[in-house]
Amino acid sequence: MDEALLLRKKEVASEPISKERRCWQLLLRDGSMTGIMQFLLENPVFAMAAKQFDLAADVLELPQDLRERTKWPKRMIVVSVPVKMDSGEVRIFPGYRVQHHLTLGPGKGGLRYAPSVDLGEVAALAMWMSWKCALMDLPYGGAKGGVACDPRTMSQRELESLTRRFTAELLPFIGPKTDVPAPDMGTTEQMMAWIMDTYSSHEGHAVPSVVTGKPVNVGGSLGRREATGRGVAFLANRAADLLKLPPESRVIVQGFGNVGSYAAYAMARFGSRIVGVGDISGGLYNPAGLPLGEVSEYLAKNRTLEGCPHGQWMTNEELLVQPCEILIPAATERVITAEIAAKLQCRILAEGANGPTTPDADQILEARGDVFVIPDILCNSGGVTVSYFEWVQGLQSFFWSESEVYDRLYRLMEPTLARVLKFAKDRGVSHRIAALAIGIQKVAEARRVRGLYP
Ligand code: GLU
Repeated sequence: MDEALLLRKKEVASEPISKERRCWQLLLRDGSMTGIMQFLLENPVFAMAAKQFDLAADVLELPQDLRERTKWPKRMIVVSVPVKMDSGEVRIFPGYRVQHHLTLGPGKGGLRYAPSVDLGEVAALAMWMSWKCALMDLPYGGAKGGVACDPRTMSQRELESLTRRFTAELLPFIGPKTDVPAPDMGTTEQMMAWIMDTYSSHEGHAVPSVVTGKPVNVGGSLGRREATGRGVAFLANRAADLLKLPPESRVIVQGFGNVGSYAAYAMARFGSRIVGVGDISGGLYNPAGLPLGEVSEYLAKNRTLEGCPHGQWMTNEELLVQPCEILIPAATERVITAEIAAKLQCRILAEGANGPTTPDADQILEARGDVFVIPDILCNSGGVTVSYFEWVQGLQSFFWSESEVYDRLYRLMEPTLARVLKFAKDRGVSHRIAALAIGIQKVAEARRVRGLYP
């Protein structure tokens, strides 16, 4: 062996193993699936999604081979995205797209831009998309993608460059019939327009259905922007009716981005009092009610809620446990931990975010029995459902009015809520396990009946 290489090998052997290197070692070990599985399970978000899957698969008594086929992702794509920054420096960003399953149709799911994005998190989010689309009876698989970057510190030009190059790297894997991205945390309608433009330029004609959550003037759907938040509010209200809560319920919304802000406005329109809102820096609480318009203006101007004069400032953990009837976590994963679950003072937990509640917290909520959980894959499914409507409208070049969009959305959400509640009651399981089990069963059954090829 070349001496320099031998020396390098010795050096490498004596270096302490970094987390990343250990991950790659696991990933590549024996070239077998076991390494890939261990690699994914080392990620706390994936471990959580896998645990939820196991619990639901136990309830369904899924046979072992079908369980394995249903659980692990079909494709994981990792790309490097070089971007010329405004400073002139070229930076390489890691980009990911995981297609968890493609059994029932094209992959579907958002793209996330955040510093914390990694392959394990994206794989977990892709898995949740699979169960969400199946639960809502959408003709899709499940997928998710993202780039590890901090969009808040990047210029519009840098973001455009990043988005176009990321799209170019994904060209062989996306398309209206293969995989259809959409917005998620840190991505916007403008970015979806750049994705559509980049893809269309390569095809030689406009292909609006390659992406959803686009601006309306390039084939987006009326109502898509507000759909996730409004869907959350719709289900929270249905739950409040079931629990016979007074119309003027107190609501706390943690996360004031695309999901949380529209959920808060919709809840206020339904007659609720918004007593708390939070963003990444902390929470604003006022038991008398917050003036939403002024709070939004403050956030738009200052890019943080901190210092907003309309309420008391506190940490996100404190905000989550203030008294209210409806709590809407609408930010990121794993914010409702076991410790917080024990202290929650809400009657309804309406999960606007993906994966906000840990399995330990779920156990506590089940034991308490006094919190009505609307699980994420049901609660925030308004977004992907209206994405489906957008995709259909684009494929047919026939567009609907906003009231048609919402009429169809609520007509899908209402019976799905009833189906989840019935499954939970009949089988004596939590709402979360019921929702997951319905989604998982549909995918597993489709896999079984399609069979193995060859
Ligand atoms: N990112 C959203 C979600 O987590 C929407 C996905 C989509 O519209 O495809 O459900």
